[in-house]
Amino acid sequence: MPVGKSITAIPVAGPYLAWTVDDGIDGTVVGAYADMAQATGNRVTFFLNGSRKAWTDQAEHLRPLVASGQIQLGNHTWSHPDLRSLTTSQIQDELNRNEDFIQNTYGVSAKPFFRPPFGYINAQVRQAAAAIGYTAPTLWYGSLGDSAVLTPDEIADLGTQWFNAGRVVIAHANHPPVLDAMPRLLATIDQRGLRTVTLRDVFTS
Ligand SMILES: [Zn+2]
Repeated sequence: MPVGKSITAIPVAGPYLAWTVDDGIDGTVVGAYADMAQATGNRVTFFLNGSRKAWTDQAEHLRPLVASGQIQLGNHTWSHPDLRSLTTSQIQDELNRNEDFIQNTYGVSAKPFFRPPFGYINAQVRQAAAAIGYTAPTLWYGSLGDSAVLTPDEIADLGTQWFNAGRVVIAHANHPPVLDAMPRLLATIDQRGLRTVTLRDVFTS
């Protein structure tokens, strides 16, 4: 794994799709992703903010899936700041506080994968993160657009646009319309013969 270089794609050939899901403003969406994973076998990476209640409320629900590796937890900082506006120690505090939460709540480490909020990153952020073991900043290539409130059809159409082999796609557990888009998103994966993977499935350190 290249240290400090942003991940935007899957490094191995094959029908692999990394479905990454950020934030966690809406606990019902977090829970629905867990149910979907359980029901379908799909593999998902959450980039979570531990400051969001969902990750405590849904912990029992998620823990077995995290333990099996079907759901990977990545670090999206504790409180979702623009890391470029912080000092090195503030950047590290944001990541460490979230890492501690993930370890205490789920018994796993998120290292080395982190996603800078808004995708905002610079050399100082890379260095501050790498110094505490976060050597794999993870961005994306393709988005379901659902950090805003879109309609289910708009979200499903973005899935049709972006769910393809080799992609790291970003989604959000923030607003309920993605739940109504889910059947079409899953159908796109099936029709294209895609296999969802976590980042740990395809990156070796
Ligand atoms: Zn975010």
